[in-house]
Amino acid sequence: MPIQSVNPANGILLRSFTPLTGDALLQKIGVAESAFLRYADVPLSHRALCMRKLANLLEDESAELAATITAEMGKPVSQSRAEIAKCVIVCRYYAEHAARILAPEPIDIGASDAYVRLDPLGIVLAVMPWNFPFWQVFRFLAPALMAGNVGLLKHASNVPQCALAIEALVRRAGFPRGVFQTLLIQASQVEMVLADQRVAAVTLTGSESAGRAIAAQAGWLVKKSVLELGGSDPFIVMPSADLDLAVAAAARARCVNSGQSCIAAKRFLIADAIYDDFEARFVAAMDAMKIGDPGLEDTEIGPLATAAQLDELDAQVQAAIHAGGRLLTGGERMVGKGNYYEPTVLADVPRDTAVYREEIFGPVAMLFRVRDIEDAIAVANDTPFGLGASVWTGSASEQRRFAAGLQCGAVFVNAPVASDPRLPFGGVKHSGYGRELSAAGMREFLNAKTVVIAEPVAPHPAQAAQQRVNGDTAPAPAESAPVPFRDFLEDRVKPAK
Ligand code: NAP
Repeated sequence: MPIQSVNPANGILLRSFTPLTGDALLQKIGVAESAFLRYADVPLSHRALCMRKLANLLEDESAELAATITAEMGKPVSQSRAEIAKCVIVCRYYAEHAARILAPEPIDIGASDAYVRLDPLGIVLAVMPWNFPFWQVFRFLAPALMAGNVGLLKHASNVPQCALAIEALVRRAGFPRGVFQTLLIQASQVEMVLADQRVAAVTLTGSESAGRAIAAQAGWLVKKSVLELGGSDPFIVMPSADLDLAVAAAARARCVNSGQSCIAAKRFLIADAIYDDFEARFVAAMDAMKIGDPGLEDTEIGPLATAAQLDELDAQVQAAIHAGGRLLTGGERMVGKGNYYEPTVLADVPRDTAVYREEIFGPVAMLFRVRDIEDAIAVANDTPFGLGASVWTGSASEQRRFAAGLQCGAVFVNAPVASDPRLPFGGVKHSGYGRELSAAGMREFLNAKTVVIAEPVAPHPAQAAQQRVNGDTAPAPAESAPVPFRDFLEDRVKPAK
C-alpha cells in the first residue's frame, strides 16, 4: 500500500510514496551502522556546531516548513510556526547543555579512581506520530544526535513529506551521512527493523496499542525502549482559583492542535461551588473558538488529521451521549469538505463507561462536578492514563496536596500542561515509561558505564606500619590520599576540526 500525503482540509492527495522494500531497508540499516562507527569520533563541539546550524535552518525556513505541516495534517498555520520555533529551541538547548549532561561523574569509593561515563547505545529507532510531526521528532533527534547515537525515523504514514524534510534538514546542517535517516515504511515493517541486531533501542510516541506491540517485541529482544503514549489529562479548578484565567486557559488547553495533543486537557473537574459558573463560561468559550481553514492566520481549530480520526471522535461522542452524558454544545461533524468537527462539551459522562476511560483526540471536552480536593484527586486518578494534570487553585496547601496526590508525570499549577526542553516529559500508568527532554531524556539512550581504576598495588596501612616497626624507613602511603580525578572530558570535547 502506498504511503500517502492527503490534505485533511479538502481531501486532496498531495503526494504518494512507495514503501521501502526489505532489501532497501537492510541497506539503510547498514548505512546507519557505519555512520555510528564514524560518528563516535566526531567531537561534541562539532556536533554542537551542526545542531546550531540545524536550528538556524529551521528558523530561516520556518514559513515553508510550517506550510508543509499544515498541508499534511491540518494544524492551524500559526501553531505550525510555533511548533517549528520549539524545534529551534530544543536544538539550541542540547547544543548548549550536552557537555554538562554527558560529563563523566566521579564517584568517591576510597582508594580507587571511579567514575561513570555515558556512552551512546548506537542505532535508535524512533517511531513517531503525526500530531506534532516536527516537534515529536526533534525532541528525540536533538538529544540523541548530540549524545552520539544515530537515528532511524519511522514517521506516521500520513506525514511523509515532513519526515523527508527533517532528514534533508539534518543532512544540510552538516551532520555526517547516515546519522539520521527517514524510513518510508509501513507500521508492519517496524518489526523487521527492531529485530535487526544492529538496532540497539526504540522509542515510540503514539497510541497505547502501538506501544504494547513495540514494547512486547523490544522486551523479547531485550532492547531498551521508551514509550510516550496517550493521555486523558485532568484540568481541575478549585473555588480559590482565578476563574477568568482558568476559563480562558481551559478552552485553549482543550483545543490546542485541534484537540489532538497528548497533553491537551481532556477531563475538566470543577469544584461544586463554582461549577455552574464555570460550565456556562466554558461552553461560551468553546463556542467562540474560530474553526476553519488551517491556512488562515486567525484559525484556532482546523480539520482533524485523518478521516479515520473524525469517524472515531464522532463515535466516541455518540457513545458518551448514549451512555447518559449531557451534550452542552457541538456534537456534530461539520458539513462540507474536510475532517471538521464542532467544538463539543459533554457533562456527567458516566465513569463506568468505555468512553470515559478512552483518550478523546479532538475538540471535545468532558465536564465533571467534584465535591472537594480529595474527590478531585480521586476522579483525576480514575483513568488508565497518567501523563499530565493542570490544577487551578490559589491555596498553597492545595497546590502541595495536588502535587503529591496526582498520579501523573507532570503537575502544572495555574497553567496548562506544556512541554519544555528544560523539563523532563513523560508519563506513568498507560501513558508510558521513560522520559524525554532535559537531562533525563538525553540519558535514556546512553550506557551509564562504571569505570574503576585501582591504584598501583600498595602495602596495606597495617602492613606498612609493621614495616616501620621492623626498621623499614620507606614512607607509608597516606591512608586516604585524595585520588586525582582525571579530565575525562578531554577525549569527548575536542575542538572542532
Ligand atoms: P499511532 O497510531 O500509535 O501511530 C504512531 C506511530 O506508530 C506511527 O508511526 C504508526 O505508523 C506506528 N504504529 C502504529 N501501530 C504500530 C504497530 N503495531 N507497530 C509498529 N508501529 C506502529 O498513534 P497516532 O494516532 O499517530 O498518534 C496519536 C497518539 O499518540 C495519541 O494517543 C497521543 O496521545 C499519542 N501521543 C503521545 C505523546 C506523548 O508524548 N506521550 C505525544 C504525542 C502523541 P502508521 O502511521 O504507519 O500506522
